[in-house]
Amino acid sequence: MAKILVVDDHTNILLLISLILKQYNYEIITAEDGAKAIEKAIKEQPDLILLDVQIPKIDGYKVCQILKETKETRTIPIIFISSAHRDLKDIIRGLEIGGTDYVTKPFDNLELVARIKANLRIKMLYDELEEKNQRLKELYDELEEKNRDLERIATTDGLTGLYNHRHFYERLTEEFAKAARHNLHLSCIMLDIDHFKKINDTYGHLQGDKILKSFSEILKTTIRHTDIAARYGGEEFSVLLPHTDIKGAFLEGERIRVRVSMAEFPCQDQILNITVSLGISTYPHEKIQTANDLVSYADRLLYEAKRLGRNQTVIFADNL
Ligand code: GH3
Ligand code: MG
Ligand code: MG
Repeated sequence: MAKILVVDDHTNILLLISLILKQYNYEIITAEDGAKAIEKAIKEQPDLILLDVQIPKIDGYKVCQILKETKETRTIPIIFISSAHRDLKDIIRGLEIGGTDYVTKPFDNLELVARIKANLRIKMLYDELEEKNQRLKELYDELEEKNRDLERIATTDGLTGLYNHRHFYERLTEEFAKAARHNLHLSCIMLDIDHFKKINDTYGHLQGDKILKSFSEILKTTIRHTDIAARYGGEEFSVLLPHTDIKGAFLEGERIRVRVSMAEFPCQDQILNITVSLGISTYPHEKIQTANDLVSYADRLLYEAKRLGRNQTVIFADNL
């Protein structure tokens, strides 16, 4: 049942309209002046308002304007009822201000009810639209959240939570271009856990995985928040250090190496210790022209670290 607010300063007209509309099962509320009309419209949220133009305190046009500017009432249809003889200028003004219809007294009961029905139908469609818009907005928000999840999944390594190989290369390309354009330092650390195969062979692949996770936690908490750490593959990792020269990168590499060598990795009922070897390259350097050069030199230096006996950090000799 629709709720209608009838606004008129004449009690007899309020009574008359209420009587007519109650026959059509509408719920009727009333107000005798502009201020009360606004208050009731906000509080009672009627489905439609019949608004007398000539009312005390705030006139009908002003009431309409205020209701249209108020969030809670702006969609309620307003039918003006004017006691003045039908003046085209008044009708136009009423409709332009946001009224949805205009009726003049004395009105025909059937016409008034027909106009009320028409306006309520429009209001119903509008409400449906609002509801659908709201649902659409919710779906859009859900979609955005799912997209963010997907984006995270696509860039993250499942086992360790570090960035994956593909994302590492995307960031490498970006950061290398930035460094080349603005003549900035960019360093790359390649890391490989020493004798990892032995851990797998002795304790099994699952224990190996646990150690890879713990190792990654050390990596995450040791690098700076501007660095980009990734699982390059298997038990090989990479860290990209924007704005970092060879000294800064060496210090960070050593910090990682020492922390890993001192960490205790619980494995079954024992405590394991592991070590890691590191190779570090830094742009700008005469041998590094491309982003791939940066990685491949770090990789070569990593294998140099392995050759020299592991658990150490190797950099270009002429860089320090
Ligand atoms: P080196 O000191 O020369 O690096 O010796 P290494 O044994 O670590 O090197 P190698 O490359 O021969 O072996 C790497 C091992 O890492 C072999 C492979 O089984 C293991 N590995 C690679 N990926 C994973 C993984 O996701 N989980 C586990 N548990 N092991 C892995
Ligand atoms: Mg290894
Ligand atoms: Mg390896």
